[in-house]
Amino acid sequence: MSRYTGPVCRLCRRETATSKTGEKIKLFLKGDRCLTKKCAVERRGTAPGQKTQGKARQKISEYGRQLREKQKMRRYYGVIEAQFENYFREAARVPGQTGKTFLQLLERRFDNVIYRLNLASSRKQARQIITHRHFRINGRPCNIPSYILKPGDVITIGERSQKSPLLAASIEAAKGSRVPEWLVFDEPSLSAKMQSIPAREHIDTPVDEQLIVEYYSR
Ligand code: SF4
Repeated sequence: MSRYTGPVCRLCRRETATSKTGEKIKLFLKGDRCLTKKCAVERRGTAPGQKTQGKARQKISEYGRQLREKQKMRRYYGVIEAQFENYFREAARVPGQTGKTFLQLLERRFDNVIYRLNLASSRKQARQIITHRHFRINGRPCNIPSYILKPGDVITIGERSQKSPLLAASIEAAKGSRVPEWLVFDEPSLSAKMQSIPAREHIDTPVDEQLIVEYYSR
């Protein structure tokens, strides 16, 4: 299955309309716009499509809830279906809590780490910058957004890349901004290090990973 290329705000509206608690679900797929009043979820929380307009929420079955949670997490990280399933299988092979390991794997993706370091305004933009070979991992160029980082890995920005207008703006935005506990960003050297595997309490992804484990365990 290929990557979704339609209007992304529809995805947030879909998740919000089917949310059991009625909370607004924001997948943060449009960078800075997601933090403004222009966000589609802030303006209207109805499901996309004419037939459902005006209905705030839809009732869904237990299976539907598991499916929606899976879709939400997949879209949050911008991963295609087959790759998402592969991460789950990999997590299931590791002893311990499968849901937590699954979430940690997604969180350790290179594109997510660049986003968490505030060097990109969305994971989509992070993927774009990475594929343009602006970053190095442990001194070697890496243009693979799905690369899974390990504790101790060091990310640096190439000297020429630091002068690229897009990256220069991102670097300025990243300076002084908060990064998760499992990452450290050294401003003078413009390098970042993954300190440890992210603990569950340090992952703010609004997802119930247990529902996804149940979805794949049917
Ligand atoms: Fe979702 Fe961002 Fe669009 Fe808001 S602006 S609906 S958070 S993608």
